[in-house]
Amino acid sequence: MINIDYLIRTNRRSVSITISPKCEVIVKAPRKLPFSEIERIVAKKENWININIDKIRENATLNYNIENYIDILFLGQIYHIAYDDTAKTISLEPNYCVVPQKYADTVVRRLTTWYKRTCYDILKKRVEYFSLLMNLQPNAFRLTNAKTCWGTCNSNGVVSLNWRLIMLPHDLIDYVVVHELSHLVQMNHSKLFWELVKSVLPDYRTRRNELKKGDYLLALFR
Ligand SMILES: [Zn+2]
Repeated sequence: MINIDYLIRTNRRSVSITISPKCEVIVKAPRKLPFSEIERIVAKKENWININIDKIRENATLNYNIENYIDILFLGQIYHIAYDDTAKTISLEPNYCVVPQKYADTVVRRLTTWYKRTCYDILKKRVEYFSLLMNLQPNAFRLTNAKTCWGTCNSNGVVSLNWRLIMLPHDLIDYVVVHELSHLVQMNHSKLFWELVKSVLPDYRTRRNELKKGDYLLALFR
């Protein structure tokens, strides 16, 4: 049995059901449609509603753990932070990120240093790979600590990537790399720019949408 949290009567001709980020069931229905009929339509969608509520809850838990440094992301994989009094350095094991117990009070700073050190070669290699593929050579490659963006490319041909990209899966890293390299020839987001991106990554739209979901990561490790 589905509980309707908000029923909005409108001039529309059909019933629509949406789930809010807080898992509320919002139903929009024609003004004159009897409530019993609305209930019947919502009941028929029970499965779909429950699946979507589960998805939102799962994501909320995942984000909560990441935002509170209980879990970390590395190349799109989740690792639970495990403090270990015998460990001397931070390391990744399947499912776990092992952190020396003595770092417990400074874990954010320690992980930041570790991330930055680990990500440089991985990100640089992706830039080199796509530079060759696209025949576009940046004048320099840098890591940034930007608050609002994943990467930039300036008019001097310097490609900068946010070190937090290392938290994301390879396909999203590649999207940002291709995006910034494309700015070496198109300094705007014109049609030609997107055509160039698309010629390398035909599914760039999906990747761009996925990347949006990871934007909250930009606020972490500050
Ligand atoms: Zn851009």
